[in-house]
Amino acid sequence: MGADPTKVLCELAASPSRADRLVHLAPLPDRPADIAAWPEWVAPAVRSALAASGVRELWTHQVAAADHAYAGRHVVVSTGTASGKSLAYLLPALSTLVTADEPRGPRDRPPTVLYLAPTKALARDQLAAVEALAGDDMPGVRPAAVDGDNDREERAWARDHATWVLANPDICHRTILPGHERWARFFGGLQYVVIDECHHYRGVFGSHVAHVLRRLRRLAAHYGADPTFVMASATVSEPEVTAGRLIGLPVTPVAVDGSPRTGAHVALWEPPLLDGGHGPDGQIRRSATTEAAELMTDLVVAGIRTLVFVRSRRAAETVAATTGRRLEEVDASLSERVAAYRGGYLPEDRRAIEQALTSGELYGVAATNALELGIDISGLDAVISTGFPGTRAALWQQFGRAGRDRQDALGVFVARDDPLDSYLIRHPETILGRPVEATVIDPDNPYILGPHLAAAAAELPLTDADLDLFGPLAAEGVAALTSAGLLRRRPRGWFWIARQRASDLADIRSSGGRPVQIVHGETGRLLGTVDAATAPATVHEGAVYLHQGETWLVETLDLDDAVAVVRPDDPDYTTTARSLTEITVSSTERQQAWGAADLCFGTVAVTHQVVSYLRRKIGSGEVLGDEPLDLPPRTLETKAVWWTVSDDQLAASGLDRADLPGAAHAAEHASIGLLPLFATCDRWDIGGVSTARHPDTDRLSVFVYDGHPGGAGFAERGFRVAQDWLTATRETIRECGCLDGCPSCIQSPKCGNQNHPLDKSGAIRLLSVLLGGAPESPRSKDFG
Ligand SMILES: [Zn+2]
Ligand SMILES: [Zn+2]
Repeated sequence: MGADPTKVLCELAASPSRADRLVHLAPLPDRPADIAAWPEWVAPAVRSALAASGVRELWTHQVAAADHAYAGRHVVVSTGTASGKSLAYLLPALSTLVTADEPRGPRDRPPTVLYLAPTKALARDQLAAVEALAGDDMPGVRPAAVDGDNDREERAWARDHATWVLANPDICHRTILPGHERWARFFGGLQYVVIDECHHYRGVFGSHVAHVLRRLRRLAAHYGADPTFVMASATVSEPEVTAGRLIGLPVTPVAVDGSPRTGAHVALWEPPLLDGGHGPDGQIRRSATTEAAELMTDLVVAGIRTLVFVRSRRAAETVAATTGRRLEEVDASLSERVAAYRGGYLPEDRRAIEQALTSGELYGVAATNALELGIDISGLDAVISTGFPGTRAALWQQFGRAGRDRQDALGVFVARDDPLDSYLIRHPETILGRPVEATVIDPDNPYILGPHLAAAAAELPLTDADLDLFGPLAAEGVAALTSAGLLRRRPRGWFWIARQRASDLADIRSSGGRPVQIVHGETGRLLGTVDAATAPATVHEGAVYLHQGETWLVETLDLDDAVAVVRPDDPDYTTTARSLTEITVSSTERQQAWGAADLCFGTVAVTHQVVSYLRRKIGSGEVLGDEPLDLPPRTLETKAVWWTVSDDQLAASGLDRADLPGAAHAAEHASIGLLPLFATCDRWDIGGVSTARHPDTDRLSVFVYDGHPGGAGFAERGFRVAQDWLTATRETIRECGCLDGCPSCIQSPKCGNQNHPLDKSGAIRLLSVLLGGAPESPRSKDFG
């Protein structure tokens, strides 16, 4: 052990069989530790407990953030993984609890802290950390986790005695806020609200959480408290903007990382195009998972301790098994030293793997992206990220797992066969330079706002003064709930008068609609669920449905009861749904002229109907049949960004009329693939429609819309950064080495039209026509 991982990677890349795969290798600038003095207000007991745990010096960002919080200013600390962000809240929160006087009577409320994490597991980890620090020397610090695993006594103890409650937004929404009267002591003393990993609150989920926090603020104020919010975020663009939207208050950012780093490198790696070039869907690349397994094998053989992140449980198993087999061939003693680490394992199994990796017993682990948060592994030599994990913040968090003693770390990004990954490979600055992605939320979405207004009214009658807290659409939302008979206006405000629990109206983790349950017909076993919106495309009658590596065939889909019945089967074909999508413009809310072209943002209605499905032979891709389906259309009222070009522009461009549908369609696909670079969404969160002539605009038009009712902020972000986004889209298509389109540029796995028609060169010309009229400032302020 002890080899330099970057040197080893370069040796591997130098082999002729791997020519051109290491596309970019960059050292990260070394950074000395930037030390700051301990603030005078830190309680001596806290300082000595931290010293005993190994914290003897503080970095500047820790002190800056802690000082803001202690002074009562809402703060977000946005620095790298393992930069000790937790001290930003531990210092002020622990010091406050430690120095508080014991209560002198039942009305005297000692200070309390609420810590929120996006997952139960992370909150439990933090509980252990706070307990270890507090030991027996800090009687004022009485931590308790409040989550779905509590029994009745634990919950009661937390309500009556805890001064530090570790929870998640879900339990706040469902239990703590609706039952606030029993938590009066806790709310009355609330001094700090810590929101850890706050970049996880994005899109629809983030918008829900924003309202949970507004409800929390209102209740705290009701009990006489005015808590300070301390937020920790991965490095993102404009952290204070998103943090401010999340809590609805101005937030001070601390984003200059004072922690040290030396000898770290980042490598961008592209798997080769497969021999044979053109399959049924054009050229394809070797899968990133296969490539990662091969790299891990060679790194482990060279003594490099390696962690591979992949997308699915199944991929984690596959990578671990493949690597084990390959190692067996080289050195049988090594094959036992790799493992998979994925959801579904018991906590003790996971802890055992973590320990084996730290101790050096294990050399390689393949983990799922989903576990990134709960994973307690550091000090590895190399981290391989297989495909973009969805956000740049997540990518850096994965890379941050590498580096013993903050030295000689290697992060390798292995590109998948899609437009976003191929853009990143050719534009290393988007990974290595300043972040362009912003965490996007939209608390003003009426579909999200409404249920939280109901929940708030059930907690405490809503008054006119409360409406400001919930944003400009709150009055309208209250009126709608009142006319629906759910709220009633009385002199003291609007009261919840329905019988059901108001908090049941909002499912904060779901994107709307009752999810469709997938049930094994013979046994009645529930296999899983799919979103109501995607069910017609994924679990229609006759669909082949994959679930954790097993193949099932859908017998019936009942949308009214939200149930799909399946049976195990192993057909020699796959299925893909064909659909029709229409879009109508309800209102244009913003518009920019780009020369003769137009860029718009507004409200649209998208009507989507799955009309048939294709069966294709596995392997050859040969079409075996096109089966009609009788499914109802679904209409989605949402937000969209769209652009149009004029007939004169098209005539002058030399684009052939017949090529326009394919050009627009290809530009639409690629732009959907690239939007996640700028807005923290998944390509599955958004949809698109393109047409050579749209009835509402009377021009060639390309729409990209939010796939959630009322919108989630993605299209709006697309409008704001349209020039950079569409420039990146054009570059991705232009730079792709394929002949006339492939999954790395213009083909989309979610196309309802079988990727037809698509015109690669037409798309480049069309985007050039559009961008030719774009305003002068070539780059928005947060792009480079
Ligand atoms: Zn291509
Ligand atoms: Zn399409």
